[in-house]
Amino acid sequence: MKIPGNVLDFLRKGKQFFIATHISPDGDALGSSIALSLALESLGKETIIYDKDPVPEFYRFLPGHERFTQSISNLKFEISNLILLDCNELERTGIEKIEFVSSAVIDHHETKKEFGDIKWIEPQAAATGLMLFYVIRELGVKITKEIAINLYAAIAIDTGTFRYSNTTPEVLRVAAELIEAGADPSYIAESLYEAWSESRFRLLLKVLNTLEINNGIAITLVTLDMFKETGALVEDTENFVGFPRLLKSVRISALFREVENNYYKISLRSRGRGMNVAKIAAEFGGGGHRNAAGYRVRADFKTAKETLLKKLNTLPR
Ligand code: 5GP
Ligand code: MN
Repeated sequence: MKIPGNVLDFLRKGKQFFIATHISPDGDALGSSIALSLALESLGKETIIYDKDPVPEFYRFLPGHERFTQSISNLKFEISNLILLDCNELERTGIEKIEFVSSAVIDHHETKKEFGDIKWIEPQAAATGLMLFYVIRELGVKITKEIAINLYAAIAIDTGTFRYSNTTPEVLRVAAELIEAGADPSYIAESLYEAWSESRFRLLLKVLNTLEINNGIAITLVTLDMFKETGALVEDTENFVGFPRLLKSVRISALFREVENNYYKISLRSRGRGMNVAKIAAEFGGGGHRNAAGYRVRADFKTAKETLLKKLNTLPR
C-alpha cells in the first residue's frame, strides 16, 4: 500500500492534531483514532480525539479509549490540523461548525465527498486501521502493545474477524505482525463478541422476531419502544444487521432503526461479489462499502421499507 507523501508530511510537520471520526463509532473508527493518537504522541506531538457519541461499553477494553472527548469546546489547543479517520466528510462526524487551518482525510469508504486538503482514500483497504498500520510504521513509531490491540480490533471488526471478502493475504500478514507486537486474538475476540450485556441480548431477541424475508432480502426492525423495554442503547444494535445473513437464502440484510418518529437509520449488508449496497445507500443520500453501507430516511416504516424493496427488486441480483 503506497502512502501519499503529503499525508506523511502533514503528520511529520504538525505539532498538534485534532482527530475526528464518525458518529456511532465502530471498532475501526475507535481503534484507528486511538492508535494514531498514541503514535503521534510518542513523537512528542499533542492530539485530541473526538467522537460525537460516547465510546460504546463493549469497546471500553481498547487501551486508550478514555482519550476520546465528545466536546469541541474548551479544547487544550486551538485546532490547526484536523484529521478525519474512517469517514471523508465533516457531516459524518456530526460536527456542525469547526475552525481549523488545514485538514487531512484517511479513509477506506467507497463513497467519497469533497472534503480535505490532503486525502488518502483507499476503498481497496479492508480497514482504516490497516492503512494506519503502514502510516505508523512509516513514521518510525514502534508498534506498542496498546497500538497493536487497537489496530487489530479495527481490522478484525471491518473484516468480520477475517471472514469477509476483504480478508486478503496482506490483512492476515498485518494481523500476524500485530499479534507479534502484543495483540491477543482470543482476548480481543472475546471482548468484541462475547461480552454482551443482558439488555443487548434481550434487544436482539426482539429484533430477530421482526424478521421478514422477501425474495432473499431480510428486513428487521428496531423501535424506540424496544430500547425502552429492554434498557439497551442505540450502540447495542451494532451488527444486528449481520444476523439474518446467517441464513443461506438471504442475499441482502436491511435493519431499520427508529431514530425518532418517522425517521429511520437503515443499515445494509450484502455478500461478497453480490449487490453493491454502497451504491444503493448513496442513492438515498448515505454511503459506505460494497458489502456494508447505510443511510437515513424521513418516512414511516412501511413507506421506508417499500421504497427500499422497490429499489432492490428493480436491480439485477
Ligand atoms: P452501519 O450500517 O454499521 O452503520 O454502517 C455500515 C457502513 O456504512 C460503515 O462503514 C459506515 O461508516 C457506513 N455508513 C453508515 N451510514 C452511513 C451514512 O448515513 N452515510 C455514509 N456516508 N456512510 C454511512
Ligand atoms: Mn472502517
